[in-house]
Amino acid sequence: MPLHEYSCVDCSARTEVLVRTASARPAVRCGKCGSNRVDRKPAGFAIARSELDRLRALDPKYKAMVDDEWSKTTYADPMKYVDKMIPFDAADDPGDPVDF
Ligand SMILES: [Zn+2]
Repeated sequence: MPLHEYSCVDCSARTEVLVRTASARPAVRCGKCGSNRVDRKPAGFAIARSELDRLRALDPKYKAMVDDEWSKTTYADPMKYVDKMIPFDAADDPGDPVDF
């Protein structure tokens, strides 16, 4: 027997009801306040989603937050740092060569 979940419109409490058949529409009352104004919640089920689908489903405000944080990192504009570099032959004191 399927277990249906209902949410009370008046008090937001959740009530679970066992129904005999999937097409049955039982008269459901809120288990907490007794209201008959209840909405059936969709049945829980699992969806296998790719990481990309999850990222696409994110609220756009998170993308803006990530972009903000990203823009503060050194990766955001590497040329800013490359432009500050001094060519080896132009350096006053290039120091000892580094042996990699
Ligand atoms: Zn209620």
